Amino acid sequence: MTATTPITQDVMTLPRKLPEGPVNLVGLTRDQMREVLIAHGTPEKQAKMRVGQIWQWIYQWGVRDFALMTNLAKAYRAQLAEHFVIEIPEVVSKQVSTDGTRKYLVRIAGGHEVEVVYIPEENRGTLCVSSQVGCTLTCSFCHTGTQKLVRNLTASEIVGQIMMARDDLDEWPVPGAPKDETRLLSNIVLMGMGEPLYNFENVRDAMKIAMDPEGISLSRRRITLSTSGVVPEIARTAEEIGCLLAISFHATTDEVRDKLVPINKRWNLETLLEALRAYPRLTNSERITFEYVMLNGVNDSDEDARRLIKLIEGIPAKVNLIPFNEWPGAPYKRSSNNRIRAFADIIYKAGYASPIRTPRGEDILAACGQLKSATERARKSRKQIAADAGISE
Ligand code: SAH
Ligand code: SF4
Repeated sequence: MTATTPITQDVMTLPRKLPEGPVNLVGLTRDQMREVLIAHGTPEKQAKMRVGQIWQWIYQWGVRDFALMTNLAKAYRAQLAEHFVIEIPEVVSKQVSTDGTRKYLVRIAGGHEVEVVYIPEENRGTLCVSSQVGCTLTCSFCHTGTQKLVRNLTASEIVGQIMMARDDLDEWPVPGAPKDETRLLSNIVLMGMGEPLYNFENVRDAMKIAMDPEGISLSRRRITLSTSGVVPEIARTAEEIGCLLAISFHATTDEVRDKLVPINKRWNLETLLEALRAYPRLTNSERITFEYVMLNGVNDSDEDARRLIKLIEGIPAKVNLIPFNEWPGAPYKRSSNNRIRAFADIIYKAGYASPIRTPRGEDILAACGQLKSATERARKSRKQIAADAGISE
């Protein structure tokens, strides 16, 4: 991008800058950061180099104070501090489950709150990141779906969740120390609150920052974006982000999927599967994950398992079975362990990996589909949830 290129639309439309206040550098792409530095007095010729230096301080070392950026001249550091801030969402509360899962409630601009979950495992640690406050979609088994969309998160608020977790895990490297390959936060899943593909640009920019080799430096293969099936945005996920893809599939007939994942009424199974067959870069090492929530008597029969295999035929895939996590007022029950195992077995015998996801952090309502910030009250009654699910109470 040249200096004369107009500032991209993202910068214009995102609330990154308070009307009078300083600009938050967190969440800006390298090009956007260059633009704002120039706009606030950094000579054009130096701008690219300054971006590189500031970028490393923020994303590689976790530094938030310009005064500590010792490879910049003192006067320049003062100039930066006058115009810019390095700010991430504030942690309101943190709960730690008996299994080590950590659930954070973080506050973002406007007083809204979103949840972020850290899941430690034997050889990796996964951060489940939110992309929206609430969700416009109303999947009948999902707690977040009972909360109306309040707003999209900015790229800054999305990458800020990762920085917040690294703070809490005390995982910023010390300058000069050897590179530590064993990371507490090694994977990201976009499976928190919200539908990431309805906030595409911000999710993309935040993930680009997380992948940048001179910063947080996570491999694109360690990032998984989960979507309920926003078909027109699926190909862009591979092209513009390059991360792995998970699909909230959950049913094997349009009739049932219409009820569980209502976006199916807009893009049905056939349209969705067509988009997945055409997914760029689809290889066996980068298989699509089909998420399938196990709901007692709804979608968990042997026949469903066999239909599922037929539907995904030819797609490099793995099927992740998620035992339904209950929440207050939920209109479903979890399938029995035997049922889940029998279902998994049928899929496995057809040649697909079919792991059963162990629910994590249940004691602190941190498991899949349980997230919902208490400040955003349920707009729907129990009755309404049941009606949407096609169940009469
Ligand atoms: N909106 C995106 C990402 C967030 S949901 C999507 O729908 O894919 C992350 C995963 O948790 C999805 O597969 C979702 O279907 C699943 N999920 C939602 N509610 C759940 C519940 N109560 N129990 C188990 N899984 C649930
Ligand atoms: Fe939204 Fe995903 Fe929940 Fe559906 S499952 S309501 S898309 S967060």
